[in-house]
This record gives sequence, C-alpha cells and structure tokens, in this order.
Amino acid sequence: MKKYDIAIIGGGLFGRMAAWRLAQSGWKTVLYEASSPLGENSAAYVAAAMLAPLAEAIDATPLAVSLGYQSLTLWQQYLAQIGQPVFHQQNGSLMVWHTQDEPLAERFRRHLLRAHDGETVWQEWTQHEIAAQEPQLAGRFRKGLYLPQEGQLDNRQTLAALLAAAQQAGAECRFGEAADPETAREQAQWVLDCRGFAAKETWNTRSQSRLRGIRGEVARVFAPEVSLNRPVRLLHPRYPLYICPKENHVFVIGATQLESEDGGAVSVRSSLELFSALYAVCPAFGEARVLETAVGLRPTLQHENPEIRCLPDTQTIEINGLFRHGFMIAPAVCETLLQGMNNLAAGKAFSDGMNKERQSMVTQI
Ligand SMILES: Cc1cc2nc3c(=O)[nH]c(=O)nc-3n(C[C@H](O)[C@H](O)[C@H](O)COP(=O)(O)OP(=O)(O)OC[C@H]3O[C@@H](n4cnc5c(N)ncnc54)[C@H](O)[C@@H]3O)c2cc1C
Repeated sequence: MKKYDIAIIGGGLFGRMAAWRLAQSGWKTVLYEASSPLGENSAAYVAAAMLAPLAEAIDATPLAVSLGYQSLTLWQQYLAQIGQPVFHQQNGSLMVWHTQDEPLAERFRRHLLRAHDGETVWQEWTQHEIAAQEPQLAGRFRKGLYLPQEGQLDNRQTLAALLAAAQQAGAECRFGEAADPETAREQAQWVLDCRGFAAKETWNTRSQSRLRGIRGEVARVFAPEVSLNRPVRLLHPRYPLYICPKENHVFVIGATQLESEDGGAVSVRSSLELFSALYAVCPAFGEARVLETAVGLRPTLQHENPEIRCLPDTQTIEINGLFRHGFMIAPAVCETLLQGMNNLAAGKAFSDGMNKERQSMVTQI
C-alpha cells in the first residue's frame, strides 16, 4: 500500500495549483519542490503574470487564447476560494505605439478581428482618452487600443496563496527536495511531473513535440512618482515592451524572448533595450529604482500549446508547455487535469467524456 495517491514533482505555478485542486478533491497528495516555498527557481517567480488573451492573440495559438478566456473566469473563482489576499486586477490593458509604427497597430487590429470572428473586442482611445485614463502618459501617444477584459496578478503572491491553499487542503509540501519520477513512484500510486523546463530530458525521450526553454528577462522597478492603472504595452518593431503596475508603485518591465536556454543573469544589451523603451514610454521612470533584474526559461513545446501526457504503464502524467502563458491558461489546464484524474480514479480512460478542446491537449503513450 503506497503512502500517497499522487506525488507531484515541481511546485512552480502548475504543480502548486494541481496540488491544491487535487487535495481539495480528496487525493492524498505530496508535492516535491526543489527550491524553497518561494519557488525562486520557477519561471513563475519571474513572470509578469498578465492575464492577456487579447494582447497575446497575435503570438498565441487559438487554443491558448481560448484557455486564456476560460481562465479569466476561473481565476476569479479560484481566488475567491483561496481566500488569501492576492493582487488581482481586471482593469483591461492598453496598447500604445509611436506614430511611425501605425502599421503595427493596424496589423494588430486585423489580427484581433480574425481571432474574434470580425467582432471589435477593443476600444480605440484618442490622446485625450489616454490622458484621462492614464495621466502619466498624457501627450506621449496619439492613439491607443484599450482591451477591456484583460487582467493581471501578482505572481509571487499567487504562488504563496496557492501553496497555502494546497497545504490547507491537506497536501504535504516538501521543499528543497529534488525528486525524480522513479523514486516518487515508490511513495505514490500516481506521479504528476510538473517540472517545467527541468523535465526536458525526460520529455524529449518520447515526444513528437520537443520541449525547449525560451529565455525571458524582466526588471522590477520601484517608481513612487509613477502611477498606472493597468498594464501598458508598447507595440514596437524591435523593442516590444510591457509595463505591469503591481502594488505599492512596483512595476514589472518585460520581457525579452530569446531562443536560448541560458538561465544566466540579464545581459547589458537586454537591460539597455528594456530601460530605453521604458524611458521612451514614460520619462517619469527616469528616477525609478531598479529592485532586481531576473531571468526565466519558459517551458515551450514545438506546437506552442500545453500538453498533458499520460503514461498509464508507469502511472505517470506529465504536464508541460505552458510557454509564455502559464498564468493566463493554467486554471483551464488544471480543470482538464482534474477531470482526467477523476476519470482514472473511476477506472475510465483519462480523456473520457472530455470536450474536443480538452481532448486536444491530451496525449496517450
Ligand atoms: C520573463 C517571463 C515572463 C512571463 N510572463 C508571463 C505573463 O505575463 N503571463 C503568463 O501567463 N505567463 C508568463 N510567463 C510564463 C509562466 O511563468 C510559465 O508559463 C509558467 O511559470 C510555467 O509553469 P510550470 O509550473 O510549468 O513551470 P515553473 O513555473 O517553471 O515551475 C517548475 C518548478 O519545478 C521545480 N523543479 C524542477 N525540477 C524539479 C525536481 N527534480 N524536483 C522538484 N522540483 C523541481 C522548479 O524548481 C520549479 O519551481 C512568463 C515567463 C517568463 C520567464
């Protein structure tokens, strides 16, 4: 008789969420995380945690956009259940651009129309509206696109809250323990591998869609003289930028997207690009204090969708490929996992009764 029903390896974003939801559903759960309760080695610890299915639509797959929309509602439900305070804003986001980059804005509008069956899901803001809604950007941009449905979280508060919720639901959470599927299997009937990029070797031994890391660099700055009411994104041909206002005048500035698995410190070039673009958007950031720069590797599959891989022979489930949208899509992926696990517990196939979209995330080996 094994001690646990399920052992989860990796307590970054997805592992914590899964530990909470599974423990809440009655699974006797243990979570192994190689780093501390902060999760400082995870991509989630670095992320801006924007919930932006519209702004991301230009780069994201239709599946990711759809999961992103579903997750906007699920996050509201999750946070209400968790109870612990998490900075969560659903005040839309604002896209701005310099006059010479109007063709980029036009392309973005066309893309949004295509992704939403011709429906106009944004509002055009004039420079007066920008000034009224975001006074600190007054006079800097002639036009903006406001995306009303979008939101954001504080990534680190979310990680802490998910951990507290998992523990409260009865999950045993072990930190500083780098586990591997074989030893975890000795403890639990099922193993759930949520190691993100660290699972690369295991994943790539048997996958059609290879896992790789995509380097992302961000900065956190403290700017007591700056206030923004929502995330602001700069459309730019070379230096796209976002500025995410968190609590207490802390802003996350990001992010580079580099085809590299080098997790080393932020480069001078990237710092120059991020801070120059930031200063160009809003010179009031000139006196901001740099709190930290940070790097994360986004776990990315070739098809750029999330994947839930079932290996019934070894009673293992692997989840990966949350790419640059982990916060945006994780709740919808997690609800799919839960449905699958409950199917397994009832002796059915993992994807039994799932809709087509959920089924498209699941592979059976
Ligand atoms: C710069 C940057 C900006 C981003 N911005 C956004 C954003 O605005 N919105 C958004 O939706 N997403 C964003 N993301 C993406 C998001 O962070 C990821 O998609 C998400 O964190 C992936 O979750 P995960 O749980 O799969 O992996 P991770 O969050 O990386 O967690 C993996 C965990 O596994 C642990 N681990 C590894 N090996 C072991 C082992 N052997 N034993 C135990 N534990 C182990 C690691 O320590 C880590 O904690 C961003 C990412 C980056 C890098």
